[in-house]
Amino acid sequence: MASISLADYPPELSKEEELYLISNLKDWSIAHGLAVRPAPAFVQPSQDPSGVLATTAPVTLFPSLFPASCFEEGLAIQRAYNELYSAIARDEAWLQSIVEELLGIDDFVTKLWQTHLMVKEEGYAQDLSLGLFRSDYMVHQDPSEANPAPSLKQVEFNTIASSFGGLSSQVSALHRYLLTIDAYPSSTSSIVKAEALQQSRSASSLAKGLAAAHKAYVSSQANRPLCVLFIVQDPERNVFDQRHLEYALLEENGVRSFRLPFGETLSHTKLDADRTLLYTPPNSPSTSYEVTTIYFRAGYSPDDYPKDEDWTARLHLEKSRAIKCPSILTHLAGCKKVQQVLATPHSPHLKRFLPDEKVAARVLATFAPIYPLDSSEAGREARRLAADPASASRYVLKPQREGGGNNIYRKAIPPFLEKLPETHWPAYILMEMIEPPPLTNAILRNGELQKGGVICELGVYGVCLWRDGSGAEQNKGEILESWEAGYLLRTKGDQSEEGGVAAGFGAVDSCCLV
Ligand code: ADP
Ligand code: MG
Ligand code: MG
Repeated sequence: MASISLADYPPELSKEEELYLISNLKDWSIAHGLAVRPAPAFVQPSQDPSGVLATTAPVTLFPSLFPASCFEEGLAIQRAYNELYSAIARDEAWLQSIVEELLGIDDFVTKLWQTHLMVKEEGYAQDLSLGLFRSDYMVHQDPSEANPAPSLKQVEFNTIASSFGGLSSQVSALHRYLLTIDAYPSSTSSIVKAEALQQSRSASSLAKGLAAAHKAYVSSQANRPLCVLFIVQDPERNVFDQRHLEYALLEENGVRSFRLPFGETLSHTKLDADRTLLYTPPNSPSTSYEVTTIYFRAGYSPDDYPKDEDWTARLHLEKSRAIKCPSILTHLAGCKKVQQVLATPHSPHLKRFLPDEKVAARVLATFAPIYPLDSSEAGREARRLAADPASASRYVLKPQREGGGNNIYRKAIPPFLEKLPETHWPAYILMEMIEPPPLTNAILRNGELQKGGVICELGVYGVCLWRDGSGAEQNKGEILESWEAGYLLRTKGDQSEEGGVAAGFGAVDSCCLV
């Protein structure tokens, strides 16, 4: 059969081809834990009272085309991003100058900062921090140029609960499997080939990061069992994504871990006199595990703190000697405001954290324009652009939030700002929309096939373990481990502004390099 061109990828499938591909995809997904718990709208809780059901995670049928140069650059600069964000997290004075603009107008950031100050007053009991980061990008192609070369532009940088490292490894293996069993028509053989498909090692590599922290921790008492503690949301539909990390932690590193819903922190953990964190599993009340590493997969959203007691729980965890992934300062370093300040043209900030000019230049090249909405000159210009419907359609407005579903897009910005008191505008940043080149694919979600134009977002994971300096030299410190830890490709319909898979907009995907 004749080969199709890139513009015709992926091809239309015949009914028989589609049936073969989808039946293999469905079974492979469940057999390999490429799965999520069903949405309540899809399976009502009364239909599954014991919570045994799982369903295939939303995935693309084909691996999406991705420019090789952009993919390679994203992976290559991840260690620079690790260095950048670990340096920011160590620089309390600098972070304070950022957070100060948000105090009083962003309650969540204010609470996080106050929690940091309370721990600081007692003195931090642990000088090691772990980051399991994810830097997210889209391909940008300026259509106004004659022969526009694709470049990689950062959507955001995540310092807490960077998800999908588990499922990402599985979806790249799924696409490879579909290739192996000839589920892709032979007309695609010059495009979808083994060398072009990129396997993501994220599950294994992130687990190795948790294991590195676990091993670096110095226990307070010999012969006490040690564990890593996953602090999780409850219920968690994306539980299998996290389970893949847990299983890799145990099977590949011999490290025991437990899952603890954030809301149950105070009933199952305690701090001893030297602030060692002890976890007592409910099934074995006579055994206490010393927690080496706290891995937050919860606590990043105000919704995780419905009661005052939840802030007590966060403080309790932060005070402990366990290594935090992330520490509260690392969590704060992930504020969108930090990304805006770093992206300010000609600012000294990037140089401060990345002294090597060549490295800083490569990182700088990935920034899209981001503006403050404060009273600075740039801020006043941005306020004007955001409030005017004619210009607002080129932008996205972001609060200091994580987890998807919080942004305001394009034409919705002016009416949103109209209702927001001006004193609160500086809690948001205004970012130019990245416009990726048009692509198509098909997404299988809840058993339904959606075909059409799609937008892909590449996430690159990074593992970084570092030691803070002490006293006034806190910002010196040293990086003990740093590596690029695989990738994630998320793909959404081009009609959707949001891209979150768990939030119900996107699908997990893998890269077919071109
Ligand atoms: P969150 O921390 O909630 O994930 P993001 O900054 O990643 O916030 O924004 C959520 C989604 O909005 C992204 O996954 C992406 O689909 C879209 N988005 C955000 N910023 C941009 C941008 N500058 N250009 C295009 N799309 C964007
Ligand atoms: Mg985020
Ligand atoms: Mg995001």
